[in-house]
Amino acid sequence: MIEKSSISELKGIGEKTSRLFGKLGITTVGDLIRYYPRGYDVYEDPVPIGSLEEGKVQTVTGVIYGRVQVSGSRKLQVTSMTVKDLTGTLKVIWFRMPFLRNTFAGGGQVTLRGRVVSRRQVLTMEHPEIFYPSEKYEEKKDSLQPVYALTAGLSNHTVGKAVQQALGELRLSKETLPEEIRLKYGLAEYNFALRGIHFPEDKQVFYQARERLVFEEFLEFILALRKLRDKNERAVNEYVIPENPQVEELIRRLPFELTGAQKKVWQEISADMASDTVMSRLVQGDVGSGKTIVAVLALLSVALEGMQGAIMAPTEVLARQHFANITKLLAEHQIPVKAELLTGSMTAKEKRRAYDRIECGYAKIIVGTHALIQGAVNYDQLALVVTDEQHRFGVRQREAFAKKGGVPHVLVMSATPIPRTLAIILYGDLDISVIDELPANRLPIKNCVVDTGYRATAYHFMKKQISEGRQCYIICPMVEESEHLEVENVLDYSAMLQEEMGSGIVVGCLHGKMKQAEKDEIMEQFARNEIQILVSTTVIEVGIDVANATVMMIENAERFGLAQLHQLRGRVGRGKHQSYCIFMTGLKAKETKERLDILNKSNDGFKIASEDLRLRGPGDLFGIRQSGLMDFRLGDVYQDAKILQKANEAADLLIQENSEWLQKIPEYESTASVII
Ligand code: ADP
Ligand code: MG
Repeated sequence: MIEKSSISELKGIGEKTSRLFGKLGITTVGDLIRYYPRGYDVYEDPVPIGSLEEGKVQTVTGVIYGRVQVSGSRKLQVTSMTVKDLTGTLKVIWFRMPFLRNTFAGGGQVTLRGRVVSRRQVLTMEHPEIFYPSEKYEEKKDSLQPVYALTAGLSNHTVGKAVQQALGELRLSKETLPEEIRLKYGLAEYNFALRGIHFPEDKQVFYQARERLVFEEFLEFILALRKLRDKNERAVNEYVIPENPQVEELIRRLPFELTGAQKKVWQEISADMASDTVMSRLVQGDVGSGKTIVAVLALLSVALEGMQGAIMAPTEVLARQHFANITKLLAEHQIPVKAELLTGSMTAKEKRRAYDRIECGYAKIIVGTHALIQGAVNYDQLALVVTDEQHRFGVRQREAFAKKGGVPHVLVMSATPIPRTLAIILYGDLDISVIDELPANRLPIKNCVVDTGYRATAYHFMKKQISEGRQCYIICPMVEESEHLEVENVLDYSAMLQEEMGSGIVVGCLHGKMKQAEKDEIMEQFARNEIQILVSTTVIEVGIDVANATVMMIENAERFGLAQLHQLRGRVGRGKHQSYCIFMTGLKAKETKERLDILNKSNDGFKIASEDLRLRGPGDLFGIRQSGLMDFRLGDVYQDAKILQKANEAADLLIQENSEWLQKIPEYESTASVII
């Protein structure tokens, strides 16, 4: 069996199962072994019953106390019993397992591992795994069991078994890193790492395996970036854009004064475009810092020189929003420049007309989505390409975009908070500008971290805000196990909420499985205030600007990385009204509260990310992925900053020595499907 073999060659994987694997993007054995667990169950030492904490999965050892009882309806039989140790007693329940009454008839000592919840104010362990007699727990203790992201119909067990079989039967490929690099950085060998990431015998093995794989992933990415940089570096500026008095005039006439940071960045951009070499610049700025206007100034300068500038956004909604704002600005200031919209959902006829106007040079500012880089589009004189919310685009897409011109200026806008040292590595081919100041007129967002007991109060508060004409967002609990469940979840939640809110309020909902056109429709209804509460998964996160929305409530806030929560929070606080963010947590655990309190105290994205990292420490690899935005398979740029730095050093080394290995791996360029 080789990596390219179809997974249906594995025992026990028939047509149906293989289709389910397909849904996860797994078709070959190679895909399967690179489908890394999303987490691990750790079988830790049992804890005293007296110290159990609500919301956690824990293990206890105790003596069976009293009788085992079966109650509930025929449909859902509940078996309950009590176990006891020196520190307390614990109620334990199982669903649909009445036969346990016989199992435990002998009494004695038992070890149980499960989630601790609060039922009618009593701490209860729900549906735990059973080790009876207790000695059985010894075999599993300290081991890490992989937990895979699943899809409906596919169990964790099935995936685990398939991986195990694949690793056993696969003619494993040889080492992929040069030996010198591997030894220099003390990295585990490839095959060891692959086994170790799926089935680590202990935490030590897991750390070694993970470090090795993350290193490789970063190295690939960095090398791809270096290639891109080499190609672009010091390219002669074919499109010299001098400072334009009309643009300066526009800046003076804007309804607001640019912040100091916006002025500084605009200076940097216009200096770049007027210089001898072509611009490659990243503009980083927190949500709401006003990046768009800076990009628009650049586009306008280009257009006024008779050339074309294009801005690409990650979603249709955002593209339309930019287009509407730009057209409005041009009209208000009577600037004779033609803007054009180009998105995937336009009809063939609409598209053709747009293509024509772009090709003949009539359209000067082109706003769109991925449609902008498709083959059918030809530009007349493309001098500037802007990508908004860059973290959603891959390096290759950016390159494809740039190829549409001769060598156009490149401007990349990103709200991802990254410390400068990391940004230099991750955006290796770009100069960096930072907008580190928010417009002065903003009221800071008021935050609160609350538990689910506060939900009724929160709904009441929303009703009140809506009665004052405002709008709200609710981010639904995430369902990591499956996208399918996530959709159901959002639908159920909004139905429930509609009931709760009554007929005077319209609740809309948004999720990742909807068609683009549907999403756009919902977003536009929300923008027109035809929907007052928008229930959504995290698809809402990027760039949307509805100034009238003042409340953001995030369910299960403990499951998100702080940087992502901060992005979500950035959807409110964009207008003149006071805005609020409610972080609802399902857990009362102390650390959760402490983490979320960082958000409570700060509105500064950069600070938040580094604080979170400090609080959790680099050792916490089971934690939540911090960035949520950068799509590395395993690596996390915050958490694994040290590995990233090492990989960067290794890239330098390999390039310096002009290592043979670089030539031997031609496909390195194409594996960088990483998103930044
Ligand atoms: P982001 O940096 O998140 O992309 P936007 O560019 O969407 O932020 O700007 C958010 C809002 O702030 C917009 O409505 C924009 O018009 C407004 N804005 C931008 N710059 C300023 C400023 N200097 N003063 C006041 N409001 C501004
Ligand atoms: Mg933006």
